[in-house]
Amino acid sequence: MLSKISSLYTKEEWKKILDSFDNEKNICVFLNTLKTNAIFLEDEFLKENLKFKKLNEYCYLFNAKDKSILSSMKAFNEAKFYIQNYSSYLCALNLGVKSGDSVLDLCAAPGGKSINLANFMQNTGYLACNEASKDRFFILQKNLKKYGINAKLFLKDGKAIGNLCPNKFDKILLDAPCSTLAKIGFDLEKSYKEIKNIAKLQKKLLHSALKALKIGGELVYSTCTFTKEENEEVIENALKSEFKIKLLDINLEHALAKDAKSNEFDEISKCKRIIPSSDYDGFFIAKLRKV
Ligand code: SAM
Repeated sequence: MLSKISSLYTKEEWKKILDSFDNEKNICVFLNTLKTNAIFLEDEFLKENLKFKKLNEYCYLFNAKDKSILSSMKAFNEAKFYIQNYSSYLCALNLGVKSGDSVLDLCAAPGGKSINLANFMQNTGYLACNEASKDRFFILQKNLKKYGINAKLFLKDGKAIGNLCPNKFDKILLDAPCSTLAKIGFDLEKSYKEIKNIAKLQKKLLHSALKALKIGGELVYSTCTFTKEENEEVIENALKSEFKIKLLDINLEHALAKDAKSNEFDEISKCKRIIPSSDYDGFFIAKLRKV
């Protein structure tokens, strides 16, 4: 399994991936513009003597050792910022939502990317956040309330959403359940059979999401894992389905990534594998339009 994954990367990339697990990652913070603004928040960070790098209008990067200070700040308790990996933010960013869109976050708990989406939409339009696990649904509900997110919540199996509301959404985020290897590393807890089962679920979720997407609508599919079965093969499966799909370019801002590869579809190179580093997690991101 491990050699199958490493064969997808060059020697240098593979070294970067292995090295990224050796140290604690730096901390990325997402500004919640629904509760505060950059001037106020930057001032709060400076009052704590925190050094940070501003990555863009929403994201700030801090040293790993500052996590406890950040999470004990009043501004954090008041939901003025969310602690989130930069790669996760990129998934939500690439959906390109805007005020007034009708948006579905199909696998939403604990709600990090829903918080991103609501910020990009400035809490206008329609944001539906769905989660299948009851326990995680309640965490999602609590987080979205705390962060002042205007969303309609659903506790449903994402596989059923396509049939429940076909052609309804302008934009859908499918941040799929996955083997999470980019988070937990390679002390493989999951067997090949388990990976195949997760991939089966991912294919069904993507099929359901494509059904729920309007013609002309756009979808981001993301995972925080490295296996081809859960990434390229899920997209290949969608390209072979009854839906007409066009793959779209992805904006990776500062992140280092490599093109995804497929023997069957050249356009899969538009999908990206983010190479993990000390600043961000490994992710797979694909963006597509239903035509
Ligand atoms: N997008 C979330 C965020 O940024 O905070 C993280 C989502 S996590 C990668 C995947 C989620 O999908 C988990 O909360 C899991 O419980 C949920 N899930 C698993 N199977 C599902 C299904 N059949 N339908 C909907 N959600 C499902």
